Amino acid sequence: MHTHILGLRCVICGATYAPDEVEYVCPHHGDEGILDVVYDYKVIARRTTPARIARDPDTSIGRYEALLPITDRTMLPPIPVGGTPMYHARRLGERLGLPHLYIKDDGRNPSASFKDRASAVGIARARELGRHTITAASTGNAAASLALLAAAVDLPTVIFVPANAPEAKVAQLLIHGATVLAVQGSYDEAYDLSLAATRRFGWYSRNTGYNPYLSEGKKSAAFEICEQFTAMTRLRLSALHGHRSDWTHATGDRWDAPDRIFVAVGDGCIIGGLGKGLRDLAALGWIEKIPRLMGVQAEGSAAIYQAWKAGTETITPVTPTTLADSISVGKPRDAIKALRAVRETNGAMILVQDEEILEAMRQLGRDAAIFAEPAAAAAFAGLIRAVQEGHIDPAERIVVLITGHGLKDVRAAVQAAGRPVPLPPTADALDRLKEWLPSQL
Ligand SMILES: *Cc1c(COP(=O)(O)O)cnc(C)c1O
Ligand SMILES: [Zn+2]
Repeated sequence: MHTHILGLRCVICGATYAPDEVEYVCPHHGDEGILDVVYDYKVIARRTTPARIARDPDTSIGRYEALLPITDRTMLPPIPVGGTPMYHARRLGERLGLPHLYIKDDGRNPSASFKDRASAVGIARARELGRHTITAASTGNAAASLALLAAAVDLPTVIFVPANAPEAKVAQLLIHGATVLAVQGSYDEAYDLSLAATRRFGWYSRNTGYNPYLSEGKKSAAFEICEQFTAMTRLRLSALHGHRSDWTHATGDRWDAPDRIFVAVGDGCIIGGLGKGLRDLAALGWIEKIPRLMGVQAEGSAAIYQAWKAGTETITPVTPTTLADSISVGKPRDAIKALRAVRETNGAMILVQDEEILEAMRQLGRDAAIFAEPAAAAAFAGLIRAVQEGHIDPAERIVVLITGHGLKDVRAAVQAAGRPVPLPPTADALDRLKEWLPSQL
């Protein structure tokens, strides 16, 4: 069926299985034996090329169908995922002395986060396998995304969330008809419960760092970044929403990649997926140089950073404390793929404090017109840090991936932005208004 898939390889022992031999993880390593989908790039190269993709009118991740682990794109939910806009962030870049700063806004996905990329592919797999109930544990976004996209294809979902998940995210689950179980514990405990439920009830698992096909959905962002970056730089565009059908001559049969991509890291699945996408493109010869992947963690939730710094793949769990709920993870589930993505691309891990995340939210909102949730803004906070520490050459072409929309967590946004000016409902309030207003008004 999947002639372009050679098998599933365990990231720990390297054992390779046929796609129908195992469902989720390597039997020798329990829940840690995450698998990586191995492709036959000769088959993919025969099926598609960058020029053919440029002519595809489908602006969603479906345009990369030949590189995804699905039989065909009609299995993806009918609500388009991906094709999110990329902007040349001139004003924001000026503050940092970076003339080539680009923002990719994945908050503009159907459920307002990057997680839609993974859910779409997870749902396509479940439909191909004829599975009827999907389950996941989530700090919020993965579940919100699953609930929305499953509603689009009428698949029931059972979601385990930590009881302290932000209200807006829980509201998304309920409004899309998911069965929501608010676990009176941490995200890590919710995760373990959902895996147990997967085994007990035979539900299909959309768990990050467990179902190997989720990284495959996440890698679509790497394809978009390279394809859009190529079109934008060759056509000198300052913004690009989705894809354009006149790209063929602009992009040709090669894509350019930026020099670095900054992204927030919790479980490590997004950055691992980006690494996979870039490896695909390099293996196909579509890009020459692989961008450095820069993973950003909050100081209060830095298990992957610590392993990176220690030069190991062994994770020491932490007790997470950060306001950025989407990257508040004590025991990262996809650490091996994440660490390899950073090391193999000659990238780095960066730590930021919650205060720096709030400042990054303000700068993104004011100077780039992007409303990011805290975890998403952490990626930009990481860039500010890297510039301050002298790691970035001003000539570098940099993409910051914004992974979730700010309305997801209004409390944090208010914390970043402050309160409005209270005004008595009287005429003489206007007399004093000038005292309170910014001077340029
Ligand atoms: C999930 C998420 C992340 C982190 O992704 P991981 O795969 O857990 O590393 C970052 N930002 C947002 C908004 C997310 O929802
Ligand atoms: Zn193994």
